[in-house]
Amino acid sequence: MTHQTETPRSIPSNEAQGKVSKQPWASLTVDEVLKRLETDANDGLTSDQVRQRSRRYGANTLQTSDGPTWPQVLARQFFDALILILLIAAGISLAIGEWTDAVTILAIVLLNGLLGFFQEWKAERALADLRNLLQPTCQVVRDGEEQTIEASGLVPGDLVRIVTGSRIPADVRLTRTLNLAIDESALTGESVSSPKRADAVPPETPLAERASMVWMGTAATAGRGDGVVVNIGAETEFGRIAALTESIDRDTTPLQRKLGRLGKQLGIIAILVSLSVGVAGYWAGQQPPMEMFLTAISLAVAVVPEGLPAVVTLTLALGVREMVRRKALLRRLRAAEGLGAATVVCTDKTGTLTQNEMTVRQIWLSAGAVDVTGVGYDPAGHFESGGQRVDYRDRGDLLLLLEAGLHCNHAALVHDAAGWHGRGEPTEGALVVGAYKAWLEPPASVAPVAEFSFSSDRKRMTVVEHARDGLLAYVKGAPEIILERCVQIRDGDQTRPMEEADERRARQAFSQMAAQGLRTLAIAQRPLSRDQSLDEDQVEQQLELLGIVGMMDPPRVSVPQAIQVAGQAGIRVLMITGDSAVTATAIARQIGLRVDRAITGQELNALSDDELARSVRERVLFARTTPEHKLRIVTALQSQGEIVGMTGDGVNDAPALKKADIGIAMGKRGTDVAKGVSDIVLTDDNFSSIVGAIEEGRRQYDNIQKFVRYLLSSNTGEVVAIFCNILIGGPLIFLPVQILWMNLVTDGMTAVALGLEPAEKSVMQRPPRRPSEPVLDARGFAMILALGSYIGLASLWLFHDYLSSGDPVKVAAAQTAAFTCIVLIEKANVLNFRSLRSPLHHVGFFSNPWVLAALALTISLQVAAVYVPVLQNALRTVPLDAETWGRMVVLVLPVFVIPELCKWLWSLFRHVPDASTADQHSSIAVTESVSS
Ligand code: ATP
Repeated sequence: MTHQTETPRSIPSNEAQGKVSKQPWASLTVDEVLKRLETDANDGLTSDQVRQRSRRYGANTLQTSDGPTWPQVLARQFFDALILILLIAAGISLAIGEWTDAVTILAIVLLNGLLGFFQEWKAERALADLRNLLQPTCQVVRDGEEQTIEASGLVPGDLVRIVTGSRIPADVRLTRTLNLAIDESALTGESVSSPKRADAVPPETPLAERASMVWMGTAATAGRGDGVVVNIGAETEFGRIAALTESIDRDTTPLQRKLGRLGKQLGIIAILVSLSVGVAGYWAGQQPPMEMFLTAISLAVAVVPEGLPAVVTLTLALGVREMVRRKALLRRLRAAEGLGAATVVCTDKTGTLTQNEMTVRQIWLSAGAVDVTGVGYDPAGHFESGGQRVDYRDRGDLLLLLEAGLHCNHAALVHDAAGWHGRGEPTEGALVVGAYKAWLEPPASVAPVAEFSFSSDRKRMTVVEHARDGLLAYVKGAPEIILERCVQIRDGDQTRPMEEADERRARQAFSQMAAQGLRTLAIAQRPLSRDQSLDEDQVEQQLELLGIVGMMDPPRVSVPQAIQVAGQAGIRVLMITGDSAVTATAIARQIGLRVDRAITGQELNALSDDELARSVRERVLFARTTPEHKLRIVTALQSQGEIVGMTGDGVNDAPALKKADIGIAMGKRGTDVAKGVSDIVLTDDNFSSIVGAIEEGRRQYDNIQKFVRYLLSSNTGEVVAIFCNILIGGPLIFLPVQILWMNLVTDGMTAVALGLEPAEKSVMQRPPRRPSEPVLDARGFAMILALGSYIGLASLWLFHDYLSSGDPVKVAAAQTAAFTCIVLIEKANVLNFRSLRSPLHHVGFFSNPWVLAALALTISLQVAAVYVPVLQNALRTVPLDAETWGRMVVLVLPVFVIPELCKWLWSLFRHVPDASTADQHSSIAVTESVSS
């Protein structure tokens, strides 16, 4: 990979273009780059410049396929083997002069095609909307203001801000860096992160070694930096070699594959049945060959549930929308199904179970602890000790700690019409608010000399700045980590060597804070000489402990109930946090998560894989973990046959997110890298949304099962009627066009409506589905066979009863009666599948208006088929008398009443909870956990 130029479209003036086209941006100095791109290293571009440039250079996107166009979707409807056979049949009918049949077949095929098209197009639109929601964003500085924009809006010259975890949104020439390291494996295949600097490199440097450039599609693994966009979209190095995969993966889901297999099996059955019926009918000489030919084809249509794939896709796609409403963006369609089968959810604590709104509550200082009053980000509040107000001006040690917290910090406090809020990490925001309470302001922005960023692995952060006589390092991090690096302690106005007793006091202090559920952070400093080597290990030692801060991060209000619901649904919740074991256990207690034991990262390291696999079966939580531990935990859980959902936000969480069955990234807090490998992105970072998404996943799976069973039982009915009729030697029970009508016109609509059925009340009160479970279990088969046989035999009985009344001209009337009867029974049959387990009155008759509308529409269509002359002519029907309608109603009733009765008895026996008891369960749960 040694492209030498990276300049083409991005130079604002022709004159500039001439100058740089032979020289890569990487080898120009920062000033030259800024000059040529007419931009500013601090303020970025102006809005006017951005407008002009976006007109000139277009959007920063790659030409990825945006899904099929509508003509493609429409055309797809007619390239189906069965439809093609029907078209041939229409052609043959036409050739032998059967005009009506030919036109009717064509009309039905067209109508079926249009219905299929609307379903699939709606599904495509839903997926396209989602693609828009998944657009990556980035931080830019424009008109001197830092803002978050969609990466597609970047123009050459834009000043972008890169922090650990950012996905690089375009090709960028760096202007400023602080320990920036980039994972360029997406581009170069090199898996070790490359360090980056703003200094120009020699012009011949190969792409992989141009340290002053960062490339679109790569990701920052450490440090931070600013840079100017030089190339966008297709002109970037990434754009030249590949398409960015920010789109939704449309892989077929396991369920779709299972259904595909089922479809194939049914296809083979269809061919066998049709052939045998066609041949048998022909040899028996009962019917003219053309009639038998059309019957055989129609029978094939009757066996194969052709509406199924479209209905499944539409249900999944509409489900995706529903998930968005529930704050979960699906990046892979198959994730919904995985969610429905999840048995364990591993979740981090901060921001997912808790609100991630930190407030400093206590500060431990060697000379005496203070409490801090005030709420949230509002800087109104003061310091107290033993209930007495403390004047911070008298506490130099307090001011020193607060000041260090301000320096080792990237957060800012913003006040606008909506009130006070923080920008940046809440942990750091809380320190800023704490400092405001002592009227300390953040230091003027001076570039630090060095910075060692915070990461969940390091659990600490250091900023080195110029001081009056040399350099000063400000360090903050997890107390255990900082304490072992301290040799001195601030005690009032003096600094003295730290003794064992001091360390003991400090440890006691943060344990007490943690036991109250507070998040703890130690703050330290270290003066350095100007010639000190600025190596991470060299700097972060021999520190002076300034004190320990305890912050409150209250649990999210909805979490206790979500934990309860997850428990009832047979899903275990496992907390895996970077925070201390004591804090994590206290929070677990507050949210009603039952935990017998906390295992720390250190203890986990000492466990063998087998021991770990045993431990994950117990009620444990994992504390002080690093992202690498998550991978081991997922593997251990999976070895126990669990289906694991795992949350993550950092760059290093990526392997665990990939390994988990469902990788769940945080939309707000998560890095682009974590989002890039996840299956689901939570838009509100809230644990409850995971539980909501699981419920939605279960609903979708249930509904797919419902309409698969519905379609198959109806189709079985048709086959039973036709087959048995041939066996007893009757005249044709249904004409071919009638079979097409019931299969292609009326069935699809009803199935789509079933897909919209709301979740059953008991959906979260049964254990997770086994992933190996077949789409159709024995109960499903039995239901299909029983209902199918009834549907077929009832229609057959009506047909022969009509015929036996003697008058041979009544065949048309008998066919119309059988045809109408089977359509009506099939429609009533829908009601059986609105709930697989509980009787309909538990679900609520009116809870799915779509099914009712589909029923009303299809029944009206059938009445029209019998009474409207054009349709009578096309479908060869005759008007029916009132008595026949009456008999049909009598035949329809058992198909619904008997299964309903069985379900009711079953629910009494199995105690399937209904609406009232289900709600009661959850409200009891909430009260219990809140009060505990
Ligand atoms: P979770 O994994 O549940 O999100 P967490 O956010 O507490 O938990 P980490 O981010 O790994 O986990 O933080 C671990 C510890 O590192 C914290 O308990 C705190 O002591 C310390 N810490 C957190 N943020 C910072 C920061 N910005 N700078 C320095 N130390 C920090």
